[in-house]
Amino acid sequence: MSSFSGSLQSMTTGLDTKNYAQYSLSLNEDKVDFNSLIGQTLEIRFLGKISCVSCQKKIKKTYNSGYCYPCFFSLARNDMCIVKPELCHFHRGTCREPEWGEKNCFIDHIIYLSNTSGLKVGITRSYRKIQRWIDQGASQGLAILKVKKRLDAGKVEVVLKEHMNDKTNWRKMLKGKPERQDLESKKKEVLKNLEGLKLDFEVLDEKPYDIYFPHTTVLDKVSSLSLDKTPEIKSKLIGIKAQYLIFSDGVFNVRKFSGYHVKIAV
Ligand SMILES: [Zn+2]
Repeated sequence: MSSFSGSLQSMTTGLDTKNYAQYSLSLNEDKVDFNSLIGQTLEIRFLGKISCVSCQKKIKKTYNSGYCYPCFFSLARNDMCIVKPELCHFHRGTCREPEWGEKNCFIDHIIYLSNTSGLKVGITRSYRKIQRWIDQGASQGLAILKVKKRLDAGKVEVVLKEHMNDKTNWRKMLKGKPERQDLESKKKEVLKNLEGLKLDFEVLDEKPYDIYFPHTTVLDKVSSLSLDKTPEIKSKLIGIKAQYLIFSDGVFNVRKFSGYHVKIAV
């Protein structure tokens, strides 16, 4: 039996050569490969301490998955314009962290189609697209447009959201694989909605990705496990999808418990 302890943070993700999502979790000095733990019984014990993922201050509860209230309120990454980029207010000189904004918002972004619980549209920084798709549990993804800044991505998304979903039904996403979508033909339909509009974008000519998750069991019902309610989770790991560890007793959203200090025993 081995054990690891530290403060939880989102799992690091990547794709192997066969497009299988790979997951690892860093706890202190240890980097634990979670794909290899599927089929084993894990014990996740909350050690009663929570610290802010940004300033490390000890806190009682987290805001926006892992932040203390002052960091939730002062960091640009926690501002409303991150969720709704069309509300970017950098030009008014009111960005919470202009330097962070320049590095993260004034860079190439893509608008993509993905298939999570169904077809959806979304945006992300270009270099993060695969990570983004894995993090949302997308079985398929296709980058369709490129823009030069986050605000432009937001403006395009506002138009596209009138015609298609931009949310994931996480319970449905976790239940199993969604019905396959022809993303290339959906792209053609999507582009029609942008004809004649004055928006800054470049149409991409990329191939769609298929992404496979280490999650073969179809779940009948999805119940969530919480360290607030159950400080000791002990269950068999049967799969991983998005940022969820799928146990035989329920699903555990790793990202949601960012900042919680835990001991994980295998
Ligand atoms: Zn903080």
